[in-house]
Amino acid sequence: MKVDRRKFIAAGSAALSGAALAQAARAAPAPRRLRDQRRIATEEAFTTPEQAAALIALAGSNWRSLDLGLWADRTVEGAVGGHLALEGERVRIMDENGVAMQVLSLTSPGVQMFNADLGTEIAINANDRLFETIQRYPGRFAGLAAFAPQDPARATKEMERAISKLGLNGFISNSHTNGEYMDDPKYWPILEAAEALDRPIYIHPRSPSDAMIDAYGHYGMELAVWGYQAEVGLHAMRLILGGIFDRFPNLKIVIGHMGKNIPFHLWRTDNKHRSERSPLKRKPSEYFVDNFVITTSGVRDHMPLDYSVKKLGADNVLWAVDFPYEDTRLAVEAMDSAPFSQEVINKIYYENAERIFKIKNL
Ligand code: MN
Repeated sequence: MKVDRRKFIAAGSAALSGAALAQAARAAPAPRRLRDQRRIATEEAFTTPEQAAALIALAGSNWRSLDLGLWADRTVEGAVGGHLALEGERVRIMDENGVAMQVLSLTSPGVQMFNADLGTEIAINANDRLFETIQRYPGRFAGLAAFAPQDPARATKEMERAISKLGLNGFISNSHTNGEYMDDPKYWPILEAAEALDRPIYIHPRSPSDAMIDAYGHYGMELAVWGYQAEVGLHAMRLILGGIFDRFPNLKIVIGHMGKNIPFHLWRTDNKHRSERSPLKRKPSEYFVDNFVITTSGVRDHMPLDYSVKKLGADNVLWAVDFPYEDTRLAVEAMDSAPFSQEVINKIYYENAERIFKIKNL
């Protein structure tokens, strides 16, 4: 039911029953502007000249990867001169929209398409650049460190440096690496390092792997319309069903886009889980609640947000914009008008981010 609020008021409440009044209130919530609200956006992208140049070079090769279409028509100047620049217009857009802080991460597909040497080198360089930007704008940025899973030994070394030397707040990984997932034992040192360093890994989307080209290479399905959530959802379920959280019980994983539909599927996952195929100490949903948090990146729909808060708890949902791929103003308006108490709004807007990413409130 769509209700024009002015006509509704003019008609007089006597003409409507209490139930109709309640329904009208649900259908047309008053927009709420939260003055002095602290807001931390947690999935916010940047590129570096080195990453952009290497991805554009790959896009010009004969590799038919589903990820490279986005880089085919770009120039390095265009990529680093626009909103993906580390600095540029970023702070102005944050200020205009009341965003106190962005948690920054190297844009997808990160360094995971490069050979191990180049990937490691570009990750280290990006983390150094990120550190410098954070220093230049005290209190405005936090950062997730890139690493190259292609070389797990050097990846863990860089993860340690990123936390102990650079003071970064967690890690970013863009789902599969050459079609492989982190439940594969060769990647366990990375998971072990994240757990030991007590920082989360944000598993960010990229397109499905080369083995999935025929399945996803139609209708733009390899991108956010479907492929991204299917890819990260698959990765998350491989970690859960592969027993990763029995092995690393304190490992924390962050996934965006309102949890990649996993929250909606949890009951059936529990109901159909067979321990002879995947021996686990606990129900799949219990790992999702204890070892994952989700973010609102790119989703401005109050219904799955409300459901996720009820299903997972208000401590497990973080606000994100997905800048520059999504509009900051619209993301703020959607969260400001969400149907929650101020206590829950504060958790989603910044308290959970400060806890999960160990952000100091300057
Ligand atoms: Mn993103």
